[in-house]
Amino acid sequence: MQNTVTPTHCPYCALQCGMNLTPEQDGGVTVVERPDFPVNRGALCGKGRTAPAVLSSSVRLTSPLVRNAGVLKPATWDEALGRIAEGLSRTRAEHGPDACGVFGGGGLTNEKAYTLGKFARVVLGTSQIDYNGRFCMSSAAAAGTKAFGLDRGLPFPLEDIPKTGCVILVGSNLAETMPPSLRFFTELRENGGTLIVIDPRRTKTAEQADLHLAPRPGTDLALALGLLHLVVAEGRVDEEYIRERTTGWEDARAAAMAHWPEYVERITGVHVPQLREAVRMFCEPEAAMVLTARGPEQQSKGTDTVGAWINLCLATGRAGRPLSGYGCLTGQGNGQGGREHGQKADQLPGYRKLTDPAARQHVAEVWGVDPDSLPGPGRSAYELLDALGTDIRALLLMGSNPVVSAPRAAHVEERIKSLEFLAVCDVVLSETAALADVVLPVTQWAEETGTTTNLEGRVLLRRQAITPPDGIRSDLDVMHELADRLGVEKGFPTDPEEVFEELRRASAGGPADYSGITYRRLVEENGVFWPCPIPADTAAAAGDHPGTPRLFLDRFATEDGRARFVPVSHRATAEEPDDEYPVLLTTGRVVAQYQSGAQTRRVDELNAAAPGPFVELHPRLAERLGAAEGDPVAVVSRRGRAVAPARITTTIRPDTVFMPFHWPGEGRANTLTNPALDPTSRMPEFKACAVRLETVQP
Ligand code: SF4
Repeated sequence: MQNTVTPTHCPYCALQCGMNLTPEQDGGVTVVERPDFPVNRGALCGKGRTAPAVLSSSVRLTSPLVRNAGVLKPATWDEALGRIAEGLSRTRAEHGPDACGVFGGGGLTNEKAYTLGKFARVVLGTSQIDYNGRFCMSSAAAAGTKAFGLDRGLPFPLEDIPKTGCVILVGSNLAETMPPSLRFFTELRENGGTLIVIDPRRTKTAEQADLHLAPRPGTDLALALGLLHLVVAEGRVDEEYIRERTTGWEDARAAAMAHWPEYVERITGVHVPQLREAVRMFCEPEAAMVLTARGPEQQSKGTDTVGAWINLCLATGRAGRPLSGYGCLTGQGNGQGGREHGQKADQLPGYRKLTDPAARQHVAEVWGVDPDSLPGPGRSAYELLDALGTDIRALLLMGSNPVVSAPRAAHVEERIKSLEFLAVCDVVLSETAALADVVLPVTQWAEETGTTTNLEGRVLLRRQAITPPDGIRSDLDVMHELADRLGVEKGFPTDPEEVFEELRRASAGGPADYSGITYRRLVEENGVFWPCPIPADTAAAAGDHPGTPRLFLDRFATEDGRARFVPVSHRATAEEPDDEYPVLLTTGRVVAQYQSGAQTRRVDELNAAAPGPFVELHPRLAERLGAAEGDPVAVVSRRGRAVAPARITTTIRPDTVFMPFHWPGEGRANTLTNPALDPTSRMPEFKACAVRLETVQP
């Protein structure tokens, strides 16, 4: 492979930090600084710095595995691919195409996500495809689409944050999830701006805030409504902006006025003077932003909760103006691109709707198939997992580990075990791969080329730096081989740039239009923001459109160009505390682990920093329970029981406990979580469920 420095991007979160890789004598790579990439300017967190350890991990899969007599054993690629093709085609023949399911991931490159969606619909003919990004930011996507007509994580580059006047950060612990991004908020404060953090825990991020509001988990919808009520009551509404750029204000206003500050204080536990202070800080500067993350989104009312924060922005004229706006801090590495190009149950490439006849026609033409042959929308992620072993009998899974990351995980694990056939592509034997009939070892970030789209909507090129070990193939190669064995000989290239060229055509004219982006531009320009169309009125080539770093400055992406207020009202979480389960559980991440931990739990340095799960609880709660620091504590919900050591701290509310969700086994937080779904986004309520605590004899 190349023997010079390769500029590329981190394999983990949606910040997609730039890094340089230098080759080592032994065939590996070392990560070194890449100061030219504006998002992180060379800074990396521990996960990014240690990412090469997974490339050479001793537990890395180097051969396909096939289950024989109940045991997974090494096999040839020919045998493994043959078993998968046979499993899928038999299921399809006996039970119809929808008996085959496909489950993808928000970490897959755009090329892989695009090809996986095409594989499901063209090769298998199934509607049953969705991905783990549904668990991550689909509520913000739904709310953004309702309000603005378009969903892109941030409608502006991160570099705008230090220049605004105030940022409200809702349910985001950037200090642990994306540490290099904190500098934008530090610079904001150095420039005289203010930071408000809303989080039930006093996190490391909250410690940096000018104002920290700590509502009960699941009540930030009421909090946003209370702030909007005060905006109206204090005469801080931007009437001219509302008249010129929005619709639906009166209904949203009426809904907010039903949420008196004292009523909101009772619901949230946040005192009225703090609400007033937040309104003052947000409204006084000329420009301000609201950024949400998993806190408000992973709720059974996540779409409405994000909608309430968007309403606050619209009422104060803080959207579609320079240095102002609402944005979602996407979580997974390609969480943004992964939801744009067709692995979502209801979607075709370019963020097109599967139910739109014109979209079906366009994409079918690119794919060379009859539009009527494309199936309709399928089930959302949890609903798909819940249907395994019943009407979905065979599953192809790529880039996901739902045995650890899905809500009500013990139930999901049982559903996966009840499948007639499971094939998994992964780099290590994850907890889900260990249940498979066939496991295929696939290439990792530094061993392959492909694009991702970071939380800003900036399309980036990850470049291959090293040759993969013998015996390992790319996901694109797997889909090419399987398509061929299932009777589709053409249309599944293995060269990522060739796939991207097709993706460009498939996305052309859609909301997420990549048609003006090329690999060459991505290298030369350090990424390009979508939408980036080829201008329709000229014979222009890719490269003539500069991309769109800032959205909505002239008009929103709705039919009339106006943003839409959506009236929303507070409602309780799906599971409120009661006598039997009197405490709220909320879940999240720690800095040294990533998602289900399939990769990061294989890195010694990260394990030393974050060796296992814990239960964070307030001293008053610990005293009532009779638990001391480090004592094993059982957390019990209606779905199961998890045990982990107590971590006692005053930084959490006394009515709430926190568990990180990166680990399997006895301390698996998702054994407890509630799969109650948001009615619009179908996102589960990871962030709040009722539990009781019990002491455990060590
Ligand atoms: Fe990688 Fe995210 Fe850490 Fe940056 S912040 S190094 S993208 S894990």
